[in-house]
Amino acid sequence: MTTITAEAGTSAQQYVQSVYEAVIKRNPHESEFHQAIKEILDSLTPVFAKHPKYMKQGILERIVEPERVVYFRVPWVDDKGVTQVNRGFRVQFNSAIGPYKGGLRFHPSVNASIIKFLGFEQIFKNSLTGLPIGGGKGGSDFDPKGKSDNEIMKFTQSFMTELYKYIGPDEDVPAGDIGVGAREIGYMFGQYKRIKGGHEAGVLTGKGIIYGGSLTRTEATGYGCVYFVNEMLEAKGLSFQDSTVVVSGSGNVSIYAIDKATQLGAKVVACSDSNGYIYDPRGINLHTVKRLKEVERKRISEYVNEHPHAVYTEGCAGIWTIPCDIALPCATQNEIDEEAAKLLVSNGVKAIGEGANMPSTLEAIEVFLENRVLFGPAKAANAGGVAVSALEMSQNSMRLSWTFEEVDAKLHGIMKNIYQNSVKAAEAYGHSGNLVVGANIAGFIRVADAMLAQGVV
Ligand code: GLU
Repeated sequence: MTTITAEAGTSAQQYVQSVYEAVIKRNPHESEFHQAIKEILDSLTPVFAKHPKYMKQGILERIVEPERVVYFRVPWVDDKGVTQVNRGFRVQFNSAIGPYKGGLRFHPSVNASIIKFLGFEQIFKNSLTGLPIGGGKGGSDFDPKGKSDNEIMKFTQSFMTELYKYIGPDEDVPAGDIGVGAREIGYMFGQYKRIKGGHEAGVLTGKGIIYGGSLTRTEATGYGCVYFVNEMLEAKGLSFQDSTVVVSGSGNVSIYAIDKATQLGAKVVACSDSNGYIYDPRGINLHTVKRLKEVERKRISEYVNEHPHAVYTEGCAGIWTIPCDIALPCATQNEIDEEAAKLLVSNGVKAIGEGANMPSTLEAIEVFLENRVLFGPAKAANAGGVAVSALEMSQNSMRLSWTFEEVDAKLHGIMKNIYQNSVKAAEAYGHSGNLVVGANIAGFIRVADAMLAQGVV
């Protein structure tokens, strides 16, 4: 990549554009990574215009290039005795403010582009929490769907047998993401301990409570997302009380977003999995969803067997046709496209809180912003999960554990701060009310200043 110095006349806009073009050229065919880069870079032009020091030190050229990428073979033997081979990834994107931190995703769609987009987002999200964590992400194209418990254990042990070389409590601390929950973290922790010896509790987060996990970590992303949206609503004199909410997904993020929104007086009428969605006009029965998804590991379609007044529809995109006041996309990237966004707007949606990573396309975000829909971007709205992961690391270092109420109160405070800091940054750079720009700038400045302080490394 050509280094763009701040030669006289190089405008901030040209600088940003040339870095973006260089990223595309250097990382061809990585559309999700390009999308994440574009979303951030578009917001940063006013920062470079105001502070040319970041251009002079090549911060942008450095920040778009991961510090390290590890890519490895994961061989394992399935229950039929057949050898399977998957691909493992860990992108250690940026360690300017702390050890690399970010989840592991096990899903057949996982490839270098997906992990790089997630890792890049993670840098700014983690910075927004105000806690000392750098950005990283990893995963595998392994599909946990339909696998036996034994196969999950075999795979995760093989995955950790390679990954352990690159991680550690002060170096890189993975956690869960799609397809990786407490069970998978438990097996990976067991294998890490077996190889390394000792009990380095802080090497992974999202652990079980009895061996070093933090209370509230399971609830944190979903609760945090609702706390964030609540801040957006309150600023406009609105609330969750008596509102109709649609939440996509039925994993960890979705379940606890439904839980908190319901606690705040909302009626959540729909949720989904990768096969389809359920619409329950009386309000989703969370006990049923939790049992089906967390205990029995079944499909969401089974919900209607127990609640026959509810309707199941095959295919998940249709969930956005349901009229709602608040939409919380908590499933996966690019689940709301321009058309879905227009539909949500014409059905009167007032607020969007992104519980998943990058669930709205760039075009969808435009539609929300143009129509003055309150929009909580992923890296701000879903930062609660990684924030509590950082609190888990603190507790592990102290060999202490905080109560559920203590961690929840800290989480709530962190989400309020993220909201305030994003609002202030948007105002300071001439984009009042635009939390996409605000979150990007607030997240960026902390990392960029740490990079400046540490020299060209
Ligand atoms: N995978 C989550 C995220 O996207 C959590 C990461 C973590 O706890 O390290 O932020």
